[in-house]
Amino acid sequence: MAEERQFTGLGVSPGIAIGPVYIRETGGLEVPEMSIRKADVGAEKERLQKAVSLAQRQVRRLQSRTKSMPGRASEELGFLLEAYQQMLKDSRLVRGAAGRIKDERVNAEAAVQREMSEITATFQAMDDTYIAARLEDIREVGNRIIRNLTRKPLPAFSTAAKGSIIMTDQLTPADMAQVDPSLIAGAASELGGAEGHAAIMARALALPMVLGVHGILQGTSPGDTVIIDGSAGRVVINPTGKTLAAYQRRRESHNRETRRLSSLRSQPAMSRDGTGYVLQANVDLPMEMPMVAQAGAEGIGLLRSEFMFMNRTEPPGEDEQYGVFRDIVQAMKGKPVTIRSLDVGADKPAEAVTSDFGDTAASALGLRGIRLALMQTDILETQFRAMLRAAADGPVRILLPMVSTPSEVMKARDLLKKSATRLKRRKIKVPDPLPPLGAMIEVPGAALAADALAQASDFFAIGSNDLTMYTLATDRANEHVAHLFDPLHPAVLRLIQFSTGAALRARIPISICGEMAGDPRYTALLLGLGLRELSMSPAAIPRVKQRIREMDAVAAAARANLIMDQTDAGRIAILLDDFNALA
Ligand code: PEP
Ligand code: MG
Repeated sequence: MAEERQFTGLGVSPGIAIGPVYIRETGGLEVPEMSIRKADVGAEKERLQKAVSLAQRQVRRLQSRTKSMPGRASEELGFLLEAYQQMLKDSRLVRGAAGRIKDERVNAEAAVQREMSEITATFQAMDDTYIAARLEDIREVGNRIIRNLTRKPLPAFSTAAKGSIIMTDQLTPADMAQVDPSLIAGAASELGGAEGHAAIMARALALPMVLGVHGILQGTSPGDTVIIDGSAGRVVINPTGKTLAAYQRRRESHNRETRRLSSLRSQPAMSRDGTGYVLQANVDLPMEMPMVAQAGAEGIGLLRSEFMFMNRTEPPGEDEQYGVFRDIVQAMKGKPVTIRSLDVGADKPAEAVTSDFGDTAASALGLRGIRLALMQTDILETQFRAMLRAAADGPVRILLPMVSTPSEVMKARDLLKKSATRLKRRKIKVPDPLPPLGAMIEVPGAALAADALAQASDFFAIGSNDLTMYTLATDRANEHVAHLFDPLHPAVLRLIQFSTGAALRARIPISICGEMAGDPRYTALLLGLGLRELSMSPAAIPRVKQRIREMDAVAAAARANLIMDQTDAGRIAILLDDFNALA
């Protein structure tokens, strides 16, 4: 019997999950294999053909980009890409794969994989260096076709057994967008920080998760039993009977507490001394909507639209986006929905939007959020049109991410007006006046110049995740600096306080939608600083509401004043935790 092994990492999404390990190999392609019926051979061949055509378009795009490269590089790459095109047009790889679909009755991705393996074996037997180098090219082309095939119709992890725990080196937001919570019970990975988007999405899906756990993959086999304790940040592989029983008891008590808190659903978010607050939900994926209703959210304070752009090579069109927005707005039955324009870049790459700019352009300090959107105004205008159409079904606000200057809001407002005009020309009804257009406060410079930004914006939403990251120069998704990511740093708190003051002076609404808003530890401080609206993952709403209901608003404001006189994050933490312990 295998020995129990325990690991410690960052507990980023609370709760306990117990199940069989599903290992996702590092960087490897998951190639699902399945038998198909004779009647499905034609459809499967068509899937293959579509994936090949898409690969041809992708390579063509690369070819046009290489033209602007300096002489030799352009020539070298040009030859290589031309060879790829030839392989995609007609080659043993493509013909062989199509043949296998018919003869071996397997799905297209398995057929490509099998054909690649056979070509590799033949080439290797030739023992020729030139041919060995060609093998790399064949793998590149074959893997591209497989990636295109697996991108959408067969979501990642779809071959996992029910109740599986994902273990991998790194989980991306695009991976998380494909997790089916009815199949996956929890996750752990070697890399990743607590405020990265993969972590945020795990909390949104109430999926227990531990990140930054070194060494979990070594010596672990698929199917091993694993415990994920997302509250304490522990991973136990092959637990003994005694450990298993202890965690089963803790899982039950965690679930009991969650059920108890859900009874607060219909209670108001009101402090003991009678101040009312608004608790809204952050939504990353439409599948979270049932949880929004269950949590009793008073609206959606942040709809992250970028996840519609992931796991695909072409951006979604107006109708597709309108369909998603409309369903969400309708489901909220008159409660406000704040839709954010796409925030691609940094740890949220989306090839469909960034492919024209190269890999590094959309870094955390590069073309991210509104900067990228203003470079691709057709994509932003398409989004605006979809949002404006959805605004006919209920109250909608439009939020811009990563704003650093008022001119970005002004440019976006011009595009919003242009989008409205285009819709009117198509005889589509557009709300009059147009929906409020607001700015995220998540760049320190935007916070420091919040008074000027307030003149251009209809509302503010504080993104404390990025505000902390950029203020403290600490990558939110990097486990090595997770200990430095501290929203209680006085610099971060001053920026929050200053932005709140600027919104008050300009008489525009302000809310906070970073992860800080969903942690009851910070509730008294945020409300004490003057915030009245908090938006968080639906699963966090009951705990924050409970904190508000036991809190005294006047005392919280006094404690916030005391805290803002401090210069040391450690002292601030003590003052806050002491206050929380009192009530
Ligand atoms: C934030 O930065 O706090 C925020 C809410 O935006 P995101 O997490 O999507 O970057
Ligand atoms: Mg942000």
